[in-house]
Amino acid sequence: MERNGDVPEHFFNTYYYHRYKSRAFLLVLQKHYSSRQLLLSLVLVLLLSRSVISNDDEQREQTCNNDGNSDGTCFIDPPLDAKYAGESKSYFPSNYFLPVPVRAIRQETHDTKILTFGLPKSRTLGIPISSAILMSVPPPTSTTTKSKAMMRPYNPIHIEQQGSFELLIKIYPDGIAGQYVDSLQVGDMVNFKQTKTNIKKPPLQYPFPKGVSQITMLAGGTGIAPMYQALVPLLKQNQNQHDQEIRLLYGNKTPHDILLKKELDELAKIYPNRFTVTYIVGDDAHDTRQYANSMYDVVTGWIDSEKIQQLGFPPTTGNSSIVWVCGVDAMYTSLAGSRMKSLTEDSILYKLGYRDETVWRS
Ligand SMILES: Cc1cc2nc3c(=O)[nH]c(=O)nc-3n(C[C@H](O)[C@H](O)[C@H](O)COP(=O)(O)OP(=O)(O)OC[C@H]3O[C@@H](n4cnc5c(N)ncnc54)[C@H](O)[C@@H]3O)c2cc1C
Repeated sequence: MERNGDVPEHFFNTYYYHRYKSRAFLLVLQKHYSSRQLLLSLVLVLLLSRSVISNDDEQREQTCNNDGNSDGTCFIDPPLDAKYAGESKSYFPSNYFLPVPVRAIRQETHDTKILTFGLPKSRTLGIPISSAILMSVPPPTSTTTKSKAMMRPYNPIHIEQQGSFELLIKIYPDGIAGQYVDSLQVGDMVNFKQTKTNIKKPPLQYPFPKGVSQITMLAGGTGIAPMYQALVPLLKQNQNQHDQEIRLLYGNKTPHDILLKKELDELAKIYPNRFTVTYIVGDDAHDTRQYANSMYDVVTGWIDSEKIQQLGFPPTTGNSSIVWVCGVDAMYTSLAGSRMKSLTEDSILYKLGYRDETVWRS
């Protein structure tokens, strides 16, 4: 059946319709202008579009400045149609990668590095707290087959300062990002962006609900990164607003794997009434190795029911006490049943009296 008497139905198919339209347009042009005139106009249009593009490039060149950075780094402004994922304007758009320079690299533990990235001097990272950014990981240069760049999310730490931000990255020897990050040198440029999926939704979005007065953080390994990102503003900026108390149980394999220990101890020292940290170390749940020469004060084993009862906050009827879990798969499985699905009845946290609305997982 035809929808229009003059045009057969298949012309409504976009492809045919546009072909039909372009041919009709050409016929009209040919009727009024000679082929020479048409060719000349085409060349003119091409030249004009080239000059618009090169003007645009010049403009991008001009906006590439070092913004007071003494090392002369060129920070490229985002394209005019850049979009942003959060309400606050992050330095990194959601639809383009922007390059920033590696400013410093320090070895945090035997397999984890902290990389400082430069930003224009007057800029903070501007990401919502409780969010990650996406690093573009180029294909290894050694590869013979054509492969595409990959992306990996990281939760920046120390996001509040102007002119820089830091990432804490564990280097897996066989990891794609791990190998790339391990090869980075000071001065190298690295591309980042931030999409909507990198930003946690409420209630796991800072500032946390006011009704939440006690937070038990259960972190494992690099799972400390999102928690540390929130800890600093939670403790520093909210001193008089709502005095949320935090107890952190931080699990690692050995004392030498503990990340950000200096920073966490410092926070515990400054805010003794609001923040405590207990380091829990063990290769397995029943590991009782003693670290006689260790400078660290640790509890051995894994984060389990007994330790949460002893060292965390108990659940409350009014949901004012919540548990925030971030770590390895085994942690989510034993503590909550899984990372994404509802709390299972056989999980440690359910048995302790916590429910879906009082267990945040990131
Ligand atoms: C929201 C979010 C935030 C994150 N933030 C951080 C962060 O701040 N710092 C950080 O270091 N990582 C973080 N990660 C993990 C990070 O994105 C990468 O998955 C990690 O760096 C490994 O990437 P890769 O390419 O080196 O390893 P891949 O090439 O993806 O994996 C290679 C091998 O590495 C090992 N491996 C990879 N991931 C894990 C793991 N989680 N546990 C155990 N073994 C593993 C496995 O042996 C695996 O076979 C975050 C992940 C998410 C989803």
